[in-house]
Amino acid sequence: MKSFVYQNLPSRVVFGAGSLAQLPQEMDALGAARALVLCTPGQRASAERVAALLGARAAGIFDRAVMHVPIETAREAREVASRLNADCAVAIGGGSTTGLGKAIALDSGLPIIAIPTTYAGSEMTPIYGITEAGLKKTGKDARVLPRTVIYDPELSMGLPVGMSITSGINAMAHAAEGLYATDANPITDLMAQEGIAALGRALPRIHAQADDAEARSDALYGAWLCGTVLGAVGMALHHKLCHTLGGSFNLPHAETHTIVLPHALAYNAPAATQAMERIRRALGGASAAQAVYDLAHTHGAPVALKDIGLREADLDKACEIAMSNQYPNPRALERGAVRQLLQDAYEGTRPA
Ligand code: NAD
Repeated sequence: MKSFVYQNLPSRVVFGAGSLAQLPQEMDALGAARALVLCTPGQRASAERVAALLGARAAGIFDRAVMHVPIETAREAREVASRLNADCAVAIGGGSTTGLGKAIALDSGLPIIAIPTTYAGSEMTPIYGITEAGLKKTGKDARVLPRTVIYDPELSMGLPVGMSITSGINAMAHAAEGLYATDANPITDLMAQEGIAALGRALPRIHAQADDAEARSDALYGAWLCGTVLGAVGMALHHKLCHTLGGSFNLPHAETHTIVLPHALAYNAPAATQAMERIRRALGGASAAQAVYDLAHTHGAPVALKDIGLREADLDKACEIAMSNQYPNPRALERGAVRQLLQDAYEGTRPA
């Protein structure tokens, strides 16, 4: 076995149906007494449930989390947290809400308890993103890693089936790229393969029945593992392309990941045969790229960038941005081939 470094990140995970009820004890364990509850406008009811559970220990609810964490929202939330004397933030929701918690923590060091309701995985990473003047800046900082994560599958039952599929494939993308990361190691490989397999089992069942408790539990478990991989090792071409498409062309996050992943895998397949074999084994099917494409397509997820708002005229610019700075990727970045990858993702063709 080759030598490796594995850095454990200091977070505590509480997993299981009904585990939301443990939130007050988890606050005690952190020594926190007043929580600001964060959510999107659409998840206000969930935040109110959390506040009711905390009683007098809920300092208030901030319900204006939105995608990509605009700096203005982050400032407003920091101000509210400070005015209400909150000594922790409880973020209930997807990556956007966790992201808002991270923006508060980056500035104030306020500990975050994350209660994820999608499969995006942000809760397991020290990565933050803040958008200022139309530009999303990302960085890594140990202060933004949620200190405690409560995974309660019951809270993801209401995630619409379409979003469940795309969010689940978004999670798989972290694990897939983790398998061919330059700093991958046997531990992250185990988590990545297990995470992809758990989601691969769960998503078809969720598609068939949105409130299948066992499938929801499997999916959240998979999302946890995939998020841990994202937090532990470096990502490559796929994440770069999705960051570009989301940031510069305002495409929706999980859908973009779902569409691009099969093509990014097809691009990297010749240079990452072991990783591809692990993905293929986790999902079944003839190849990693086709297995991911088929999982999306047969379960009603979008497979073409043209169907989620990208214009064909933007492909050249997207390619330009993706090629603009070099980063580690198993296969060298070849302009013509990356442009073709984007064309295939635009049209939604099944990878060969
Ligand atoms: P999201 O958080 O924007 O959620 C999408 C919508 O679904 C929101 O309106 C939300 O309120 C709603 N929703 C969430 N859970 C629900 C549920 N159970 N039932 C009903 N509605 C629900 O989307 P996301 O895909 O979870 O997160 C995307 C964002 O997270 C992006 O900005 C992305 O960059 C960021 N992200 C960051 C990291 C990181 O490590 N920093 C990792 C992954 C994603």
